[in-house]
Amino acid sequence: MRRKLRVLFAASEAEPFIKTGGLGDVGGSLPKALKNAGCEVRVILPKFGTIAERYTEKMTHLTDFRLQLAWRDLYCGIEKLVEDGITYYFIDNEYYFKREKPYGYGDDAERMAFFSKAICESIKYLPDFKCDILHLNDWHTASAAVFLRECYQGDPLYENVKTVFTVHNLKFQGQYANFILGDILGLHEVPAAASQLCCDDGSVNYMKGALLYSDILTTVSPTYAQEVKTGFFGEKLDWIFRDRESVLYGILNGIDTAKYDPETDTALPQNFSASDFSGKAKCKAELQKELGLDQDPDIPLAVMIGRLTDQKGLDLVAHVIDEMLEDNLQIAILGTGDKVYEKLFADCAERHPGKCAARIMFDAALSQRMYSAADMLIMPSLFEPCGLAQMIAMSYGTLPIVRETGGLKDSVKAYNQFTGEGTGFSFANYNAHEMKDTVLSAAALYRENKAAWTKLMQNAMAEDFSWDRSAEDYCKIYQSLHPEVTPWKKSTKK
Ligand code: ADP
Repeated sequence: MRRKLRVLFAASEAEPFIKTGGLGDVGGSLPKALKNAGCEVRVILPKFGTIAERYTEKMTHLTDFRLQLAWRDLYCGIEKLVEDGITYYFIDNEYYFKREKPYGYGDDAERMAFFSKAICESIKYLPDFKCDILHLNDWHTASAAVFLRECYQGDPLYENVKTVFTVHNLKFQGQYANFILGDILGLHEVPAAASQLCCDDGSVNYMKGALLYSDILTTVSPTYAQEVKTGFFGEKLDWIFRDRESVLYGILNGIDTAKYDPETDTALPQNFSASDFSGKAKCKAELQKELGLDQDPDIPLAVMIGRLTDQKGLDLVAHVIDEMLEDNLQIAILGTGDKVYEKLFADCAERHPGKCAARIMFDAALSQRMYSAADMLIMPSLFEPCGLAQMIAMSYGTLPIVRETGGLKDSVKAYNQFTGEGTGFSFANYNAHEMKDTVLSAAALYRENKAAWTKLMQNAMAEDFSWDRSAEDYCKIYQSLHPEVTPWKKSTKK
């Protein structure tokens, strides 16, 4: 049968409605790319209280019903909004979702279980949409994979619904005390669910459930898909990835290439392109002024943009930042996170006026000015499922200096001094001085070999980080779960 595959994409975040991190970028961009690749996609999200009024006022009420969650009998509404050509469904329950922030509450286990059950239940209510693929993302939606098999089996409507579960960050698994199994999920009398959801210590782990119940597992980069099979990266679930490696795929995320385009980005003081970097020089001069750094075009400027947490390798930076700043180099940091790092970088900026600046805040426009102005981005992550900052940096001709892990390894090609090839710099070991040496040799190249540097900038800007490539890979995976359906796009192209 020749038709489009129908994909219900479920996530707790999607730009422009909800974004607290990289998942929001993916939830916003991937469905559009899947649509372009020939799928019929609908996106289902919680109707969080943080969604801007300009969106909520345009939503229409599709339906509502009662949802059973263990002993609870709950209101569940579905609101609909078509935005930018994509149909979004918002799960409405004000008690659970109308709060000041999306997560971080004592009842998150219950809220996300409600959302997950609502995703499954909604499949009955979506007009003209017989779901083929339920694509779940991270622990917030993980229990839907379990509910789907344990509570909806036997209903013909659900017979052909296949599940794809994408791990964006294995660090966050949704792990709770054992009583959750009965009191919230209502699955204590289902032996298979109990054994697959529970860990050896008796705790309930939503992500473990999805990893065992889903038809296909994906991670957000090929290298991370290999890494999660090892004890170091596997966060105690590595054995599942090893057992299920035949259905495990790593697909590199993309970025919004229209948004991060130095030729059109309105956040920049001057636009530029790979054939004319004069605008980038202006961006650098303006940023140096804005951040109080010495105004010198020849000093290499390195930036760090992101969450200030251990994951991002900040203990390495903290260890050698004073040594690095003894070199002819500037470092500017933008981020929020662990208080210890916020203070450490703020103090460092005070110790090195004119050479180091720290902005402890979340500011998207400033991040774009920094990506465009900098010569280098330092990203020495301990682990990195994909990472977007390095790809955004490259699209502005800013060369990333990364540790060879996860998506950093898959997206940055290290400089080869003999061929001049590369899109950045990398080092292998989690070692502060190895990082420092890599940063300082990159800085030296910047100062001493402008031609080689310009070539690297052009290489970086020529990389294709659009979502189209990843969307094709997801489509192939969906297709493998529904071999009876002939892809719609191929047939129309012929
Ligand atoms: P993660 O998802 O692990 O936080 P990613 O690199 O995948 O890291 O994505 C982080 C995204 O958030 C990037 O788009 C980055 O530019 C943005 N970001 C992170 N911190 C800040 C900040 N303080 N101000 C503005 N943007 C930020």
